[in-house]
Amino acid sequence: MTLCFADIAAPKPTRDSLSAAHAAIAALLDRGALKEALAAWDTARRRYDSWSSLVHLRFAQNTTDAAAIADRDYADSLAPEATELEVAIKRRLLADPNRAGLEAAAGAHAVRLWDCDIATFDPAIKADLEEEARLTARYTSLLAGASFDIGGQTVNLSGLAPFAEDPNRAVRHEAERQRWAFFAANGAEMDGIYHDLVRLRHGMAGKLGYETFTPLGYKNLRRVDYGPDEVARYREQVREHVVPLVARLLEQRRAAFGWDKVRYWDEALVDPAGNPKPAGEHDYLVAQAQTMFDRMDPRLGSFFRLMNEGGFLDLKNRPGKAGGGFCTSFPTEGVPFIFANFTGTHHDIGVFTHEMGHAFQNWESRNQPGVDYLWPTMEAAEIDSMALEFLTHPHMDLMVGPDAADRFRRMHLIGALAFLPYGVCVDHFQHEVYANPSASPAERHAIWARLERMYMPWTDYGDLAYPAKGGRWQAKQHIYGSPFYYIDYTLAQCCAMQFWVKSRRDPTAALEAYTALCARGGSAPFGELVRSAGLVSPFADGALADVVREAASVLGV
Ligand SMILES: [Zn+2]
Repeated sequence: MTLCFADIAAPKPTRDSLSAAHAAIAALLDRGALKEALAAWDTARRRYDSWSSLVHLRFAQNTTDAAAIADRDYADSLAPEATELEVAIKRRLLADPNRAGLEAAAGAHAVRLWDCDIATFDPAIKADLEEEARLTARYTSLLAGASFDIGGQTVNLSGLAPFAEDPNRAVRHEAERQRWAFFAANGAEMDGIYHDLVRLRHGMAGKLGYETFTPLGYKNLRRVDYGPDEVARYREQVREHVVPLVARLLEQRRAAFGWDKVRYWDEALVDPAGNPKPAGEHDYLVAQAQTMFDRMDPRLGSFFRLMNEGGFLDLKNRPGKAGGGFCTSFPTEGVPFIFANFTGTHHDIGVFTHEMGHAFQNWESRNQPGVDYLWPTMEAAEIDSMALEFLTHPHMDLMVGPDAADRFRRMHLIGALAFLPYGVCVDHFQHEVYANPSASPAERHAIWARLERMYMPWTDYGDLAYPAKGGRWQAKQHIYGSPFYYIDYTLAQCCAMQFWVKSRRDPTAALEAYTALCARGGSAPFGELVRSAGLVSPFADGALADVVREAASVLGV
């Protein structure tokens, strides 16, 4: 195993090499050598995934490097080919009448996932998928082109974030005024893109035999153990338990600040003393994170040391580097990689608490038998990351300083709760959109405005005319690029907050349950993983009641 990022070498596949590898697997299957075929396929998939991760990471590390751009373009052009070959193998395996034999050799859950995968792809939609990628890329580049002059700086959309939570109310208002002026100016084009995306997705669903895009969207996310009805019940629980709590929290904040009303541009400023910031810059935070993980658990501590010393962290902002943050992995090697851009705000701390959660899960589950089990489906993967955000709470003095630790924990908890109504609103909106594919753009704005009144009745846009008329959803990239994905964060948040409650009562037991969940990786579907960690499924009645009670008492509302 490579324990140094610089040593990772992933050979570049070609159309011919992919076809040859798949022909060899097919030949093994012809001979009835199922175990050997599965092993050869797993090796091929690990090699391909490691190469693809590396190419996309190298591009993100330097978006201006000509060789990195060429490699990324090549990888993107090869991806549909690889998917087609992979689906062909899955189809062939699943066509075998001996399903029990296949499940014994490959794992019952893997077989369930493949069932999902083959139902989402057919060569008949290949051109539509390319068109979908093109439309999504157009939306992304519109957003990337946004530029704002504020506080004597020129910033992009993510650069607006610190201004949107500035302690000075006029600065926050100015940040939101500029943000929504941008969306007002580009709204018609964004409406056109989304209109085309909805039509295209509805059309693909029809070609694959679905009535609407919704069931296809669920299968794309490999959801094998719940559907839209369960998700609707969860949204209802958020409305019943969390919406009143968030309303009380905002009223508490209004009184604390002495505001007349809580306006939209006030919502991001949680702390009257100013949202707590990291106590230092990159090198300081990395050293503090090492101390924090060492204190928490020797497994967390030694894994973080390995990542840091092996060069598996790239966290500093620099020219030419892509924005955002993510955790990626190289399944031939086992050690994941964390990519981020420090901004000097509390979001930097999330790199060590959220992305490190993803990385630790991927590391702990590296010995799972097949590549399908290395990552869970997204709603379960986000438990591993969001739970670590809460499990690190007792050590936040190391990241923000002892005086700000309580304030940080409070801000983080309020942020987690306030996110839920917005998150389920984004989900509900998409269910209505794909149930009514012939709606006009104006009708979609009306849908959003209606749902927003339901889930976030406190929202007061003041003089921000564009979001006041139902345009806020256009700023949410997931609505364009990752349909139905957003609810995953809210399902995971419900589970992560249960870890918070547990760790307040018994931190050692909570950390043990967390580590065991990470080690299970993606070997089971969401519901089973949740149960195995001793958590209440978000789809069960009362999943949020306990958490909300505890939060209300801690936050004094
Ligand atoms: Zn995440």
